[in-house]
Amino acid sequence: MKRRFRPEEYAQKLLEGDIVMLSQAITLVESRLESDRLIAEKLMEIILPHVGKSIRVGITGVPGVGKSTFIESFGSLIANQGHKLAVLTIDPSSQRSGGSILGDKTRMESLSNHPNAYVRPSASGHSLGGVQEKTRETMLLCEAAGFDVILIETVGVGQSEVAVEGMVDFFLLLMLSGAGDELQGIKRGIMEIADSLVITKSDGDNIDRSKLAARQYQNALHLFPPSDSGWIPKVMTCSAVENSGLDHIWNTIKEYESLCKSNGYFGEKRASQNLKWLKENIQSKLNQMFYQDEGMAFLMKNIERQVSNDVLPVNVGVRQLMEYFLNNRKEGVKD
Ligand code: GDP
Repeated sequence: MKRRFRPEEYAQKLLEGDIVMLSQAITLVESRLESDRLIAEKLMEIILPHVGKSIRVGITGVPGVGKSTFIESFGSLIANQGHKLAVLTIDPSSQRSGGSILGDKTRMESLSNHPNAYVRPSASGHSLGGVQEKTRETMLLCEAAGFDVILIETVGVGQSEVAVEGMVDFFLLLMLSGAGDELQGIKRGIMEIADSLVITKSDGDNIDRSKLAARQYQNALHLFPPSDSGWIPKVMTCSAVENSGLDHIWNTIKEYESLCKSNGYFGEKRASQNLKWLKENIQSKLNQMFYQDEGMAFLMKNIERQVSNDVLPVNVGVRQLMEYFLNNRKEGVKD
């Protein structure tokens, strides 16, 4: 078993910017052991006054759109400007075994070696909710360790975009320019939550096509209702291979940050994210507590059978389940 420290020791080293301790603290919050969870909770409590000072940026796009190449180039630009940059990933399908840092490290090799950058692959082995929770805590640990820009990448499948959107200040959607069918692949829900769009691979033969796609997306965005932030999403083009357009994207994010800080939206969004997080967490913990008992599973099957055969009214079934739950509930809840 890995060595564990007291929460105060983790916190002190973290606040000094100790990267080795940061990695160990992340491993701690990702752990499923009850004893680790208690240390992690205390640690999160101690560092809370020191978090929140970064700009949190989510990045998504379908596989192949160029996310890792983009993050490598874009991240280097940010780190070269003297920012301390942390790159995290949300990937519920990740099979990484605890603590291993292969995978994303090799995907973003030069960025991983940058003295101002820290690349941490996705937590694994959890449900999306579990991965989301670990990533959020990891983000806070990175902030406590002095990272002032956090990029959170999602693999661009399923619900992971929504999970990321719930924890970032600015959400960037990377898109490919297609051949004449630019508007087809748009998932409406995702475009609606994006703060800006970037057409990737705008180099060589693809430059004209990507500019055309950008114009079409910009027109499509006009169809969406304006956001409460007062921000109008931009559509940009870039080439991560030729390092073009990246400055413009970074300046756009800074522009968004200063607008939303001056009109108060920045703080409001973070506060509402925290509240949403609280509610979701309560729901998922209750859900787990409700179902984690074997006797409950047995009773549930029984009641399901009776309800589906119309032998038991639904509300009576619910009452029986609730009574069983309240009489048999266990102490605490595991992730
Ligand atoms: P991901 O699956 O979204 O992480 O995409 P990758 O970053 O792995 O990129 C997918 C492919 O697109 C790779 O073959 C990259 O070399 C290529 N690619 C990524 N960015 C660019 C770019 O700016 N220009 C060109 N021409 N190719 C790119």
